[in-house]
Amino acid sequence: MRILFSFVAFASVVCADPINPTLGPGDDAFNARQSESFLAEVSKTLDTVPPAVPEPRERALALRLLDAVLHDTHSPNQPSVQAFYHARMEHAVKQIEEMRVTEGLQIWKLYNHGFVVCTPSITVAFDLFRGPARFRWDGPDGRKGVESPEFPIADALADRLAAQCDVLFISHEHRDHADPYIAEAFLKLGKPVVAPESVFGGTPLQARATHLKREADTVQTLPVQGGTIQLQVVVYPGHQYQNGGPENNVTLVISPEGHSFAHNGDQINDPYPQYQEDFKWIDTVKDRHRVDVLMTNCWSNDLLRIVRGFDPQLVVPGHENELGHQMNDRVPFWGDAQFLQLNLSEVKAQYPTLTMTWGETYRFTPKR
Ligand SMILES: [Zn+2]
Repeated sequence: MRILFSFVAFASVVCADPINPTLGPGDDAFNARQSESFLAEVSKTLDTVPPAVPEPRERALALRLLDAVLHDTHSPNQPSVQAFYHARMEHAVKQIEEMRVTEGLQIWKLYNHGFVVCTPSITVAFDLFRGPARFRWDGPDGRKGVESPEFPIADALADRLAAQCDVLFISHEHRDHADPYIAEAFLKLGKPVVAPESVFGGTPLQARATHLKREADTVQTLPVQGGTIQLQVVVYPGHQYQNGGPENNVTLVISPEGHSFAHNGDQINDPYPQYQEDFKWIDTVKDRHRVDVLMTNCWSNDLLRIVRGFDPQLVVPGHENELGHQMNDRVPFWGDAQFLQLNLSEVKAQYPTLTMTWGETYRFTPKR
């Protein structure tokens, strides 16, 4: 009986496709069980200790445990990782549907540099993305693309998200920021999708997007909610400079209540000294506008200088643990300062900084 049981168990393991093909079946199965166990602990902690400034110790530990789970090279294909991500996104969308914001800014972090900001009068979305259906893997035979079709959220959940928002701002053309399905969902509902001209190049979506002027300090108006609100917007002419790179809109929104919030997409000025021209406007944002909240990619190389240029009341980093990237380029919550010479820890020391993961939310009432 015992022999038969062992044989059956062994046979079932070898027949199943390993999640990580470099591991033997026993180790691969262990990784799956450990991810499930760790994510249960992460969820318990995040659900009982919400985002706060300064960061509670329990959250620092939970987010580092999450780093560990997501730095299994094949984590996008772990069923427990997918379940964790889907449940958190589902919960966030339900909150966005049900919550009535009566003051300040309610900020949701979605996947992965995607945010929704809700004020009493408007709901604004930035860089919404369902999640990567493919990720890079630097395996023993070099770099490969690995399919992860079960990772993205369902289209129906993306539709519910679009139904709650008034406008979608897309920073640049990369697929982890410009999701054609989500853009289409907004456009079908008659809601504007604002993007640089290069976004969705060569497809019918390109011409249906709104291309505002990329001009520092020009306050433009964008009709939303069927033209009943004229939203004030500045689109700074940024770039994702990494030995060249696409135009990247850095968008500042001023709500009808006078709250101001900016999202910087994948702004990066690397390497020095060739790619510093954007600092001409970055360094002076604060001189012309009060910025309540800056949502910034966590891995811009001189983030401290960018944050000083905006001088916000609150910094909210995004794009941690980008699972479409290879493991060493999934910038973790613990920081990895050696990577790209990051100085996020100095930002955290000098500015109120709020760390959130997928699906979390925070209410912020700016000081006047
Ligand atoms: Zn990105």
